[in-house]
Amino acid sequence: MNNGCLGTHYSFIPMRTHYQYIIVGAGCAGLQLAVALVREKNLSLESLLIVEAAATHEEKTWCFWYPKNHLFEHLVKKSWKNIAFSAPGVSVKEDLQSLRYQYISSVDFYQDQLSLLQQDSRVDFLFEPVQAISADSGINQVVTAKGNISAEYIFHSQPSYPVSEKPFLWQHFLGWEIETATDVFDVDTATMMDFSLSDTTHPLFFHYILPFSSRRALVECTFFSENLCEKEVYEQLLSQYIAKFIPVPFTILTKEVGKIPMSLPPKKLIAESSTIIPIGTAAGCIKASTGYSFTRGMKHTQAIIGWLKKENELPHPVSAKRFLFYDRLFLTLIQRYPQQMPGIFASLFKNNRVAFILQFLAEQTNLFQEALIFIRLPKRYFIKVLLNRTK
Ligand SMILES: Cc1cc2nc3c(=O)[nH]c(=O)nc-3n(C[C@H](O)[C@H](O)[C@H](O)COP(=O)(O)OP(=O)(O)OC[C@H]3O[C@@H](n4cnc5c(N)ncnc54)[C@H](O)[C@@H]3O)c2cc1C
Repeated sequence: MNNGCLGTHYSFIPMRTHYQYIIVGAGCAGLQLAVALVREKNLSLESLLIVEAAATHEEKTWCFWYPKNHLFEHLVKKSWKNIAFSAPGVSVKEDLQSLRYQYISSVDFYQDQLSLLQQDSRVDFLFEPVQAISADSGINQVVTAKGNISAEYIFHSQPSYPVSEKPFLWQHFLGWEIETATDVFDVDTATMMDFSLSDTTHPLFFHYILPFSSRRALVECTFFSENLCEKEVYEQLLSQYIAKFIPVPFTILTKEVGKIPMSLPPKKLIAESSTIIPIGTAAGCIKASTGYSFTRGMKHTQAIIGWLKKENELPHPVSAKRFLFYDRLFLTLIQRYPQQMPGIFASLFKNNRVAFILQFLAEQTNLFQEALIFIRLPKRYFIKVLLNRTK
């Protein structure tokens, strides 16, 4: 994939030693928040520094489900009205009704957000790794090789977890964007999970397809497991899948490799000071059971703006307690019984509308609706996990 070049947007020397706000990390969460701060008319923004360590970002294919109108509508490159799910014995394809599964390229997102921020004289950029964030003697500051810079508020997306938090898994994947010689893809349907190749020799994995046209699609092989795989494992499974289900000549245009932490956020999110605030991955915006974070970042950004305006509390953590409980249950289930998961996902998709499942995963359901989901799942392994049995 193309790199999203950030370096050209940044200064290498801090312009001043104190700012109203500092955001550490010009990634997904940092830029969403920076633009929201700049746009918010009821917050008198005086100065904002964005500090970023990396010169480039690998392009990420950010997907999410959402109704049609949102802040990043103009960046949506492709959207799908149907979602498909497959496992041995189950094949589901459903209309998402008012939702759309949508794709934004991270490169487009960075360019769009950075160009907005660059036009604002209140915003400075520093291209430098932050070595530490502290609140010594009541002064919030970031420590860099170019000196210390203080601020009233520091927001940072540096993950302060995850590996120590249990249960912990990686969502890791290799995707090939392929072009086929003939029309093979259904352009209206994204395949969220296809367990057709699932077996007992590998940890839990599935395939994922985002068709961009009838001849072009991103096909990914995704694992949920504690350990990462050798490159050849993903390649072999992708080749096998394409040979079996997309059996036409194809060329590989680009590749997407990635790993996303699947873990619960630390219980205490603000360690140093109530004005040093974690955002994005550091705040638990990546949902532990799915790896999705884009829309959770949007919601968290709005909550931070509301908190700065004294309209609401800052949510700690991002998810309500019962959703953290479900996520913990789900991760423990995968960790203990990975071979049972294709069957459990199959029950989930066979017995519930896809739009309803997505509503649940977006944490927009109520207790009654959640009970309906759990009642319709095979209970044996859930009960074992709840009783903390290992066999
Ligand atoms: C390949 C891939 C695909 C994904 N696809 C999806 C998807 O389809 N849908 C979805 O919802 N989520 C997806 N995610 C998950 C999630 O949306 C992204 O990981 C998202 O980028 C997280 O946002 P963030 O701001 O927390 O972290 P990042 O976007 O990674 O931003 C963190 C920033 O902080 C900078 N930084 C780190 N340390 C320092 C330091 N010491 N000093 C200064 N800067 C520092 C980094 O360089 C980076 O720019 C995907 C993740 C990956 C890896």
